[in-house]
Parts: sequence; structure tokens; C-alpha cells
Amino acid sequence: EGEVRFEDVHFAYTSARPILKGISFAVPAGRTVAIVGPSGAGKSTISRLLFRFYEPTSGGILIDGQDISEVQQASLRAAIGMVPQDTVLFNDTIGYNIAYGRDGARPEDIAEAARLAQIDGFVRALPEGYDTPVGERGLKLSGGEKQRVAIARTILKAPPILILDEATSALDSFTEKEIQDALERVSRDRTTIVIAHRLSTVVGADEIIVLDGGVIVERGTHADLLARD
Ligand code: ADP
Ligand code: ADP
Repeated sequence: EGEVRFEDVHFAYTSARPILKGISFAVPAGRTVAIVGPSGAGKSTISRLLFRFYEPTSGGILIDGQDISEVQQASLRAAIGMVPQDTVLFNDTIGYNIAYGRDGARPEDIAEAARLAQIDGFVRALPEGYDTPVGERGLKLSGGEKQRVAIARTILKAPPILILDEATSALDSFTEKEIQDALERVSRDRTTIVIAHRLSTVVGADEIIVLDGGVIVERGTHADLLARD
């Protein structure tokens, strides 16, 4: 469950300028494909199309063989988890932030998600800068720690499909082992699309697709691509 397929997808935000010019790839259920390329290549556009924020001009996007134009956006959002590049926290405890949108999540499941993401030390803490009670300071979270809150949220949601957006800021430059371990855990056995700038961050992907100017310019394993350079 969770196979993702793009079939000759063309897309333009405005008719004057095509952004995706015939993109085809498949991510078999449970596998990881990385989409690598410079800023402006069209990487984020691919994830926006997968969420049906926009419709392709032509071509098809299929999940488990079903064209997503026939799937309600709410079901798509339930099926796809996203670990974004910048995590915005809600004005409540870290535990609440992990369980956000998961009404009725069991406390033990929240605790387990926090443990796997290695933030179990501060599930009850409030992030700094929020409405902390008078006399309390709130906890200052680093970019990496916020990222781990997003990872814990995704572990709890357990979607069959996962998008990891490493393309900028926190994740692109991280070498923090805790985050890599947590991402490893959350992407294992899930269909995963990693969006990244640099080849060096996507060593473990089953296939790497290099996107430039809205076309796929190269594809292969990490070793294949290194050998060709
Ligand atoms: P990447 O993720 O590879 O950096 P994007 O998919 O974000 O690239 O953007 C691809 C191109 O589409 C860029 O030239 C960008 O300026 C343009 N673009 C992105 N979003 C919009 C939008 N909402 N309207 C018009 N053009 C956009
Ligand atoms: P959830 O289902 O996790 O409670 P939402 O329904 O708000 O959360 O969002 C569904 C998924 O869509 C989430 O994984 C979220 O990260 C992702 N998402 C929401 N807005 C955007 C966006 N503008 N661009 C990309 N992904 C988004």
C-alpha cells in the first residue's frame, strides 16, 4: 500500500511559464525516492501536486493505481505525512503539538512517538515565547528539536506515504545524528519522497531523481550518479 506514480506530468502556475515538463517516476510501496535539484527546479511543486493543492495541466498522478483527481483532498492528507523544512509549533505543550489533529490519541502512543523521535524529555513542556504561565520560562527548542516534534507527529499519524522536505534550512545542513535516526525510523517501511538540494544527504534512497528546470536530467542510485560525475 502506498505506491506513488507520476505519469508524464506537466504543470504551470501561470500559462506563460511551464514548471514541470513531463515528469514520470514511480515510488514502489515502502520504497524511498529522493528528488534532488537546485532551487526553482520544481521539487516542492511535485509535493504540492501530490497533495492536490494544484492540478496537473496534463498527465496523471496515481496512488495505488488510482488517479488522485478522484480522491478527496481530506483522504490525501490523511494518507500523506509531511515533515516540513520549518516546523511551526502551536501554543501548547510539546505533547499537544505531537498529537495535534489526532483527536483521541492515546497518551501511551504519544509517549512512544516522542520516545522514537527522541524528545521524550519534554513532552509536558511549553515552547518558549508562547503563553507560559506567569513565573515560568518555557523551553527554548532548537531547529532540530522542532524538527523532531514534526517527526513525532508523523510517527503518531503513521501515514503510508511520507514527504521529507530537506530542501532548505534546518535539515539540509544537519548532521545531527538524533534527527537522522528519527527520520530513519519514520521512513522505514513507508513510501517516502525526500526533497533535497544535495546528493550527499540522500545516500540511502532506492532511486535518486535529479530535477532541473522542470525536467528529469538524471536518475539512478547514489552510486550510479557518483560514477557518472
Ligand atoms: P524548488 O522546490 O525546486 O525550489 P518550486 O517547485 O518551489 O522549486 O518552484 C519551481 C518554480 O515555480 C520556481 O521558478 C518558482 O518561482 C515557481 N513557483 C513556485 N510557486 C509558484 C506560485 N505559487 N506561482 C507562480 N510560480 C511559482
Ligand atoms: P494532519 O493531517 O497531520 O493533522 P493537516 O491536515 O493540516 O495535518 O495537513 C495534512 C498534511 O499536509 C500534513 O502532513 C501537512 O504537513 C501537509 N501540509 C499542510 N499544508 C501544507 C503546505 N502548504 N505544503 C505542503 N504540505 C502541507
